[in-house]
Amino acid sequence: MHLTLTSIHHKLSLTNSYCIFSLHNLTITLLFLTMAHGKKSSSTKATKHGESSVALVHVDQPQPLSVAPIVSSYNEKIRPVLDALENLRRLNIAKEGIQLPTIVVVGDQSSGKSSVLESLAGISLPRGQGICTRVPLVMRLQNHSLQQPELVLEYNGKKVSTDEANVSDAINTATEELAGTAKGISNNPLTLIVKKNGVPDLTMVDLPGITRVPVHGQPDNIYDQIKDIIMEYITPEESIILNVLSATVDFTTCESIRMSQSVDKTGLRTLAVVTKADRSPEGLLEKVTADDVNIGLGYVCVRNRIGDESYEEARNEEQNLFESHSLLSKIDKSIVGIPVLAQKLVHVQAMIISKTLPEIMKKINEKLNNSVKELENLPANLSSLADAMSAFMQIVALSRESLRKILLIGDFQEYSEDKQMHCTARLVEMLNSYQKELQNCPESNSTKDFLMEEIKVLEEAKFIGLPNFMPRVAFLTLLQRKVNGVSYMPIRFVDSVWCYLETVVISVLSRHSANYYQLQVSTRRAVERLIAKKKKISIQHVLQAVEMEKHTDYTCNPEYLQEYNKLMLHQQVFVKEVLNANRRSSTVKLEGFGDIEVNHLRNCQNDLYDAFDLKARLIVYWKIVLRRLIDVIALHLMLSINELLDVDLHKEICNELGGGVERLLEESPSISGKREKLSRSVKVLGESKETVANIIDRIGVYGDN
Ligand code: GDP
Ligand code: MG
Repeated sequence: MHLTLTSIHHKLSLTNSYCIFSLHNLTITLLFLTMAHGKKSSSTKATKHGESSVALVHVDQPQPLSVAPIVSSYNEKIRPVLDALENLRRLNIAKEGIQLPTIVVVGDQSSGKSSVLESLAGISLPRGQGICTRVPLVMRLQNHSLQQPELVLEYNGKKVSTDEANVSDAINTATEELAGTAKGISNNPLTLIVKKNGVPDLTMVDLPGITRVPVHGQPDNIYDQIKDIIMEYITPEESIILNVLSATVDFTTCESIRMSQSVDKTGLRTLAVVTKADRSPEGLLEKVTADDVNIGLGYVCVRNRIGDESYEEARNEEQNLFESHSLLSKIDKSIVGIPVLAQKLVHVQAMIISKTLPEIMKKINEKLNNSVKELENLPANLSSLADAMSAFMQIVALSRESLRKILLIGDFQEYSEDKQMHCTARLVEMLNSYQKELQNCPESNSTKDFLMEEIKVLEEAKFIGLPNFMPRVAFLTLLQRKVNGVSYMPIRFVDSVWCYLETVVISVLSRHSANYYQLQVSTRRAVERLIAKKKKISIQHVLQAVEMEKHTDYTCNPEYLQEYNKLMLHQQVFVKEVLNANRRSSTVKLEGFGDIEVNHLRNCQNDLYDAFDLKARLIVYWKIVLRRLIDVIALHLMLSINELLDVDLHKEICNELGGGVERLLEESPSISGKREKLSRSVKVLGESKETVANIIDRIGVYGDN
């Protein structure tokens, strides 16, 4: 008789996985003995099947011919699958985002999760009342023909060898390192690898038990923390949920049932283990046959080790219990005992693995293709001077093109989302606010303390000569005062424009040279130096423009005379009204300026006509000065930006780099990191693909599906 893995799986799913146990009771006995930890009775002898699986066979029982071959053929089929799985785990394929089938042990606190695991593994785990499992414990059981069992704990990148006597303490120490010494929990897993003669080939994860009420020293949200961890493990379709239920409770009230039902509605990947059968035998048969809680893969009732019992004693006690107890003996033998549980789990695991292999293969292929593509898209690692030179020239050309678009043309396609890089618009904004600042400053306020400054300046500008000449020095004094008052504004403006341009230019160059770390560093330095130079030139230009305004009062603009004459038309009326002794209001209206406060001029003996004349000249001329300070600087900046793009930038970057183009050959750390990561992915995924392909070939999953 030759059974393939998939045909077992078909059979399993048809009969709700009881088939193996209906073959013959002997199968159970076989496994039971393998679990009895080496102490062979005189009536048994070891028989080797295949390479590594060892089964102990009752020699004095009549052996149906079919049994041993089925077991061995089954083992021969399952071992390679498990080895392949183990291989995938060792390659750390989870890091590539591919989930592997796992048995996840869930249950309410103290339901007996750890006890079930230790029964399966034949080792003692930290057990007890209250919360002792505080981190996910991944337990990999591997049947091995070793004389001495080999136990290794892996956590936080460490590997710690231990043995059966000390494993419990070692787990506690590791738990404290991962989750602290208090009663908190952590999602950082701990892996225990148990290589031992006679253990079932299983990988299981023990999780912290669900607890509603935090005990002293536990965070208030302990329930949510635990729930999150459990959900993370049981949600993937590849997970088999081993729901541990205590016989002492009503299953329908179990929190763990509610959780597993929420991710596995049909229950087809949920198996229930009922512990503490010894403590609550009444009604257990009814509970597991009624299946109120929809457990698709069925129930197994067990009795775990109690107190200081040895495993052998515990198994004997369990067997006796289910054979002789008046109520428990009525439960079908195919659903009682740890050996049955072990056997079922091995089958279910195999079934789920063979079912998910094609899907895993598909995912591996997808990820592999993506990684290969990404790797190909990484910039070529420059290997010769000529390559470096051409890469360099291309980067500079591309950067100049991008800068021209955003600084001069107003084409923002490359930066459609990034408003900061819409430079033409941002420059206009900056220019507008500079203009507003000039127009709203005190120097531009022509009505405050109307004529007072003019009167004072005229007083000091008196000279011996004919009276109807306006002293030019008075005009220049006032003009210089005003220009001095605003001179910091254009300087501040060009300063802020260049600071902005610096960030823009650096950002564009970094983008284009992102793959060449050295070039990025050099260009940044070059840009900083260049912008500092350009800024200095601009400031000199501004200082000169300001100085020119102070030096000469000139314009050819006819607006000056027109506006001046228009204002002077109101001179007579205005001055008369100011001097009018019967005037009631404190203000006098002036065309174009509205009501002007003039009380301070009431007793003024000076020549208000001259003061008004001087004021009129200043008001009109100041407008022209301001406009010049805006226009000239705007034109200068645009010229500077053009020069920057046409010549300066290229020159400065070449200067900075000197003859050291070969420095470019050094790859940026982020790119080499990415390359390394992708290369690892490609390697791991490639090996994984081979592993899975081999196993699919051997067990013929595709063909049978
Ligand atoms: P966990 O919190 O779910 O991991 O539960 P533990 O495995 O730590 O078990 C909680 C308590 O129940 C311990 O004191 C165990 O000895 C006890 N226990 C577990 N299984 C059985 C069983 O089958 N029978 C009896 N009588 N006690 C059990
Ligand atoms: Mg526990």
